[in-house]
Amino acid sequence: MKLKHLTTLVAGACMMLAFSVNAAEQVGHAASASHAASAAHGAHWGYDGENNPKHWGDMETGFAECKLGKQQSPIDIHGAQKAALAPIGFNYVQGAAEVINNGHTVQINLANGGSAKLAGGDFKLLQFHFHTPSEEMIEGKSYPMVAHLVHKNAEGKLAVVAVLFTEGKENAALKAVFDGLPAKEGDKLNLAGGLNPLTILPHERAYYKYTGSLTTPPCSEGVQWQVLKQPVELSKAQIQAFRKLYKMNARPVQPLNGRKIEVN
Ligand SMILES: [Zn+2]
Repeated sequence: MKLKHLTTLVAGACMMLAFSVNAAEQVGHAASASHAASAAHGAHWGYDGENNPKHWGDMETGFAECKLGKQQSPIDIHGAQKAALAPIGFNYVQGAAEVINNGHTVQINLANGGSAKLAGGDFKLLQFHFHTPSEEMIEGKSYPMVAHLVHKNAEGKLAVVAVLFTEGKENAALKAVFDGLPAKEGDKLNLAGGLNPLTILPHERAYYKYTGSLTTPPCSEGVQWQVLKQPVELSKAQIQAFRKLYKMNARPVQPLNGRKIEVN
């Protein structure tokens, strides 16, 4: 609701948004919507300088949840309780993929990427995007990068599956993405042949589960998080290619405030 409200508001105010009004970007962006609004009005949320994450909550009234929310993401995952979580049913399929540099990250929009069966039912996969270093920490440790796969169910509830990356061998599944990272904000690239999101998942699918928020303004809560325990590899060159565009785009970890973290 918050998201929708913001997007509507922004769409009314800013011509710039015209290019990004599709479901995938509304969700991921929230970020791109607010970015378009901010850019048009002189402000620009980011990760350093005066518009760093500490100040997001004061930048726009629609961003208040960034400072007032009690269930914010990311978090340092520790003290997880063993639980009988159902395995995630990944029903991802090969489909068209558009890679876009949105000014905050590189995002891959998937028109028909399939869905995931999670607690709460089927969630359609809309897009995935990257952060460096990983926003989530595991027992105080962060990873060089993370991918957030953003899903939405029929009721509009959001769910994110996070895939952590370690430095290692070249990631073949993401080679086309990292070879063609759009250099400038607004630049796009259509991946010839599309992409199958299944190929970027780790072999083991055990995961941490908790309730949190978007990690970018407007920091809307009620997001169901699943962080896969097993990381996958990216080469040093792939990590560096992303860091050439975004050397740091991770929100710091947020207080847990008594939330329960489950793991299977
Ligand atoms: Zn993210």
